[in-house]
Amino acid sequence: MGPAASEESATPLVKGRRPLTIGIDVGGTNLRAGVVDAEGRVVDAVSVDTPHEAQALEDALVAAISELHGRNPVASVGLAVAGFVSREQDRVRFAPHLPWRDARVPELLEPRVGLPVFLEHDANSAAWGELYFGPASLGENVAVVAIGTGIGAALLIGGEIYRGSNGVAPELGHLPLVPGGRACPCGKRGCFERYCSGTALAATAAEMLAADPGRATILTPGGELDGAAVARAATAGDPIALAAIADFAHWLGVGLSIVADVFDPDLIVVAGGVAASAPLFLEDARRTYAGMVTGAGHRRLARIRRSELGANAALIGAAEMARRKWGLAELPVAGPAGTSARDERPDR
Ligand SMILES: [Zn+2]
Repeated sequence: MGPAASEESATPLVKGRRPLTIGIDVGGTNLRAGVVDAEGRVVDAVSVDTPHEAQALEDALVAAISELHGRNPVASVGLAVAGFVSREQDRVRFAPHLPWRDARVPELLEPRVGLPVFLEHDANSAAWGELYFGPASLGENVAVVAIGTGIGAALLIGGEIYRGSNGVAPELGHLPLVPGGRACPCGKRGCFERYCSGTALAATAAEMLAADPGRATILTPGGELDGAAVARAATAGDPIALAAIADFAHWLGVGLSIVADVFDPDLIVVAGGVAASAPLFLEDARRTYAGMVTGAGHRRLARIRRSELGANAALIGAAEMARRKWGLAELPVAGPAGTSARDERPDR
């Protein structure tokens, strides 16, 4: 059955009930899984640390899917992966922060969870989420820059995902911004995401603490110092945290000016976990961007907007893609309406 036929034949079944699917954001730090309804709402969720060994990662995914499937009548699973997904979307070729190397992830998971599994790059997933439920629908050519542990990026050209020749475009997070700069897990130095990510924010703050140990600050070096801690301290007015945020904003502006020089989008959406802290840095980043983009006085500058979906964009986008691909066709016909979805929204 083709996708058009399945959607057509299944449409009457979904009247009055919500086709639910699971979206999972497989990031370098956390594995976050959620049950998402047709309006893009997360109605149930689980989150665990991402295991760093392939079998353990697969087991953790099976456990998360089974737990959510046990509580919700879901039809399919969308995996948003922080790595290179093959053009055919049947395998993860390489993921700098994950143990998968040329891994046929849907094929590994489907028999274990009994559901169809759809694979997509995490930034592309976020872009789909932003396109269906967020501000990306407002642009013709849109760059989505998802900032979390690293930077994921996606391009919507005329409303379509641009994948490049190998399915890996665009890896904006690994643009070498600082020659000879911080080492990156990708093997290069000075990558955009080494200066502009949650990880980078913590690294910058740690460098500043080390360089000026006498300065009054509420930040403490060591394990507690992560991007979220720096953002909290900056909100509280901590001078070192504010300086680290200013550095982050500068590099975000520089990076976005390169994105605009190459792609000339009309809208840039800043997404990912760090987008929650956008009020701390977005205006400064805009200023740097406007000052650096080529021909700034003679072109319409891309609007830069914060994602409305925040850290859930990739999860929601992956779930929506899985729903569009399989959700409608796979929905059970019978079943009391009251069991189709839980009304609690722990993630909202
Ligand atoms: Zn890199």
